[in-house]
Amino acid sequence: MYKQLIQELGSARLVAVSKTQPNEAIMDLYAQGQRLFGENKVQEVVPKFEALPKDIEWHLIGHLQSNKVKYIASFVAMIHSVDSLKLLEEINRQAVKNRRVIDCLLQFKINDEETKFGLDIQEAFALLESLSYPNLQNIRLCGVMGMASFVEDEEQIRREFKSLKNIFDQLKARYFPNDPAFKEISMGMSDDYPIAVEEGSTLVRIGTLLFGARNYGNVG
Ligand SMILES: *Cc1c(COP(=O)(O)O)cnc(C)c1O
Repeated sequence: MYKQLIQELGSARLVAVSKTQPNEAIMDLYAQGQRLFGENKVQEVVPKFEALPKDIEWHLIGHLQSNKVKYIASFVAMIHSVDSLKLLEEINRQAVKNRRVIDCLLQFKINDEETKFGLDIQEAFALLESLSYPNLQNIRLCGVMGMASFVEDEEQIRREFKSLKNIFDQLKARYFPNDPAFKEISMGMSDDYPIAVEEGSTLVRIGTLLFGARNYGNVG
């Protein structure tokens, strides 16, 4: 399953989404070579970081409150869910304290669902043109992230992924043309990753397909 999925993804990298999964399940994938894991809650990733091998790259993929950045700033490899200048400023502040640079993605709302977080492109322009952005020397923007709608309609999902790719291309051309670090398009989950890969995903976030359904007592 794991090896086959890696092959299917081609050059896109796999973020194994281990939220709600026990450490044993994470170690099973680790033993097969996986090092990149995604969690959506600060209170869950901190104990996992403490307990598990230090060569795991932890990606924070869920909504992040500014007041919780301090708990992950010393170790988080990438934050996928930056949706405001205020949050980016706080990530920078905590990165300075830890004397490191934290890789971040801007999260965009590409779906038609009410509850999802994320910027639109105008808000991203405003953030990148703000007076404060050039001062944020301890964050590095590496690209964009988005979630498609939870629908059956593949054409709608494809349209949404295309819109994220388009946002990436616009930001790249306008603000990061000579910055090789700005290269990531984080899109695709268990149900829609083949479409995401076709539409240019570079980071695919997969949980259920790897670990089985959440909250149902998994193989460990
Ligand atoms: C849970 C989660 C995923 C993985 O979802 P699956 O359907 O289990 O693959 C991907 N991205 C985010 C932001 C998530 O919260």
